[in-house]
Amino acid sequence: PEKTLSDYVRDYAEQFPDREALVFLGKAISYRQLDNLADRMAALFAAQGAKAGDVLGLQMPNTPQYVVAFIAAARLGMVSTSISPLMTPPEITHQANDAQVKILLTLMPFWQTSVPPVLGKVDTLSTVIVSGPMDLMTGQGEALEETHEGVQVISLHDHLPDTAEPVNTHVDMDAVLYLQYTGGTTGLPKGARLTSRNLFMNNLQANVFYGYRTGEETVASAFPLFHIGGAAVVFNALRTASTFLLIPDPRDIDHFVAEMTARTPTVLAAVPALYQMLCANETFKSLDFSGLRMAISGAAPFAREEVQRLESVIGKNKFCEVYGMTETSPVITLNPASHFKEGHVGIPLPGTEVRIVDVDTGKTMPLGEPGEIIAAGPQVMQGYLAMPEATEKALQEIGGKRWMHTGDIGVMDEDGFVRVCDRSKDMLIVGGYKVFSVEVEGKVQSLPWVSMCAVVGRPDSNRPGNEIVQLYVERSADCDKSETDLKAELDSFCRENMSPYKVPKEVFFLDAIPLTSVGKIDKKALRKTA
Ligand code: ATP
Ligand code: MG
Repeated sequence: PEKTLSDYVRDYAEQFPDREALVFLGKAISYRQLDNLADRMAALFAAQGAKAGDVLGLQMPNTPQYVVAFIAAARLGMVSTSISPLMTPPEITHQANDAQVKILLTLMPFWQTSVPPVLGKVDTLSTVIVSGPMDLMTGQGEALEETHEGVQVISLHDHLPDTAEPVNTHVDMDAVLYLQYTGGTTGLPKGARLTSRNLFMNNLQANVFYGYRTGEETVASAFPLFHIGGAAVVFNALRTASTFLLIPDPRDIDHFVAEMTARTPTVLAAVPALYQMLCANETFKSLDFSGLRMAISGAAPFAREEVQRLESVIGKNKFCEVYGMTETSPVITLNPASHFKEGHVGIPLPGTEVRIVDVDTGKTMPLGEPGEIIAAGPQVMQGYLAMPEATEKALQEIGGKRWMHTGDIGVMDEDGFVRVCDRSKDMLIVGGYKVFSVEVEGKVQSLPWVSMCAVVGRPDSNRPGNEIVQLYVERSADCDKSETDLKAELDSFCRENMSPYKVPKEVFFLDAIPLTSVGKIDKKALRKTA
């Protein structure tokens, strides 16, 4: 791509000035306003001494200023890094130091809780900009100007200039644009260094399948913007002059559904857990989906039965699934709605190569046999920040190309479709056999009274190297059978449907399966329970 988001937004300010770019809590920002707000925000950052290469920390759930600030930072050549709003002060301190954050844009509730303990502990931090969620929509907000531990703390409302000269929109394609931390599903989040080329090439690659029609889409996304999936969806939306519905808290299903009632989305994007919650909502099920072109899922496995349940609501040939990771900006493969292959995550995007290799020898596995998924293409990151060993392990050069070693176990079939078996870290060893947690979960998920489930391994103290299959189940709201009956039913169902060594030996009922901030099943938390 020769143009990035920053250029597109400037162009659309001319081409589609009054088209709604962002919709938030019933209020809209047009493309002209978005472009102008980005220039004003850039002026604010510049007034705080920001220069090309400086890092902007974005600590907030989905809000308009997140998007505006991201574009503003890009126009100044700054690097953005998302800081999950759920992080505690030590976690924020760690990431802000790791990323060398200079300006932190946050929300008032965090300024009152998690931000003050961080001040004085991050040498690079010079300014904290505090905002209210609606500041940019209403023009109202709080006044604030203080200094704490040598850090300037100001409010967005009374420091955002009313006017600003248009800033140069040209962005260096090969400079790092986004220091995006991984989901932290398996350990401490790692900072993936992503350039504009990485991100926008991936947008174009995926769009070969998505086919966004410029100026005509309305996109509803349940991804948090601080996750790479959410960022990719909003980039694609704004790059195509779409209207993007910003959902402050996607898990507030009633509100999410209300937004979709007010403006019918043509594109819907969410993680599997969110689709499951939506499909349990009566209002969602009664929405008119005739205008919906496409529903995209990604970031975690989606069981077949759940896909079918979703299709029974939205209609056939609309669902597509992507597979990828933060380190690949994020999409590697896509299972297109038009040629959807059940139980798979699709084929490599154009310009992307995927191989399935032996974990130990690195040799390519025969078709149909499981091995580590590795990928090469223009979307592969530059490396992790300040983690040379992890970078070396993840990015290996083979045949002059840099291959991302995903840590996921997968299989490729004769059509080139990839199936993700499991994360290698989630795979269990039972009696010398490999058990893929995702496979057992997929089967159990088909029981009508199972709302969500998760399989983890508990180390077997009697047999070192061996694991006990544990199953955690969240029942559907209308299930009224006793736990004893359910356990018996589950046991006979598993014995009928899977090899004996895969059958869960320990079953636990939970009120809710713990989810990470992005909405993935939090197996780290479950293992702690175990
Ligand atoms: P961390 O790397 O910090 O442990 P994470 O791997 O969850 O966290 P992400 O980059 O958000 O961080 O997620 C990428 C991972 O998500 C992939 O490696 C894969 O395990 C899983 N994943 C993504 N898409 C899919 C999918 N469609 N089906 C199954 N798993 C998926
Ligand atoms: Mg990962």
